[in-house]
Amino acid sequence: MQTLFLVADSGGIRTTAKLLRSGEIVAIPTETVYGLACNALNPEAIEKVFKVKGRPSNNPLIVHVSGLEMAGKLGLEIPPIAEILSERFWPGPLTMIFKKNKDTIPPEVSCGLDTVAVRVPSHPAALEIIKLCRFPLAAPSANISGSPSPTKSEHVYDDLKDKIPLILDGGECEGGIESTVVMFETIESSEISQRIRILRPGGVTAEQLGEFAETVIDDAVCAEYNGENPSSPGTAHKHYSPKAQVIAVVAENQEKFINYINANKKKGDFILSFTEDINENARLLFSMLRDLDEMGAKRIFARLPEPEGLGLAVYNRLIRAAEFNSVKAE
Ligand code: AMP
Ligand code: MG
Repeated sequence: MQTLFLVADSGGIRTTAKLLRSGEIVAIPTETVYGLACNALNPEAIEKVFKVKGRPSNNPLIVHVSGLEMAGKLGLEIPPIAEILSERFWPGPLTMIFKKNKDTIPPEVSCGLDTVAVRVPSHPAALEIIKLCRFPLAAPSANISGSPSPTKSEHVYDDLKDKIPLILDGGECEGGIESTVVMFETIESSEISQRIRILRPGGVTAEQLGEFAETVIDDAVCAEYNGENPSSPGTAHKHYSPKAQVIAVVAENQEKFINYINANKKKGDFILSFTEDINENARLLFSMLRDLDEMGAKRIFARLPEPEGLGLAVYNRLIRAAEFNSVKAE
């Protein structure tokens, strides 16, 4: 199959919607990373997405809708806290997990779980496509499972050329890191109060969510999970890894990091240099990992950021890209 490239103008958006209506899978831009979209109500299309990505069959997909109204029609239990969060953070990089109370969404989307993850993307092309299709889109990142997520259309092409009919090019993704995934828990002492549990950190931070309700960060966010039933199955997989070996460096300050590199650097070692701007670091992380692969890196050293604010999301991706290999710079 030849992969077509189209710019995300009105013609490109219409062609994308048409392909999606016919049961095809198409790479589309979102504000987080490029998504491999399909009709979330079509089990055969969903199966194609899993197959093309080589995605583990127990890693559920996020369903993208145009707003709370469309989410409401999917037969989900939407608690009051979610309505408040949707007003503040949708469209945007916040994915909320809801209990199903009807089987509107096929079990293939959530890999048989009784919950569904939902968000509203803010990229204008993604929103327009959902509105034109009038059905929700399941859209995991448009890469081969395990590789760094695609933040440019070229990244999608490198991973999925000849495997999908169309890549809709909407420029470089502005967030560069996937959405924050949260679930809600009822606080035992109170029937009405809900706690927010972050399963995967992303563009919406724990601090921002904490302004609305008690917010906890799941243990699996910063550490390796070896149990049987992770709350978020995707976080347990090897993830975001370039071909080079990534080594996460814990360093109190930049000087200690540089000293460590100078003392340990071998041929084929590269440094992934972060700036002072955490937004920029998040935006460029995956793209830099891919660039360093192209430059022939054998090992990539990167300093772990403070796990605060958006730094938590960068920390979470980097420690997984490093397969939890970290060293301390003394
Ligand atoms: P990706 O599609 O690669 O952005 O990954 C989607 C993330 O959402 C993974 O970490 C999944 O484990 C998580 N996710 C999707 N649906 C559910 C669900 N029903 N329950 C828990 N986590 C989910
Ligand atoms: Mg992904």
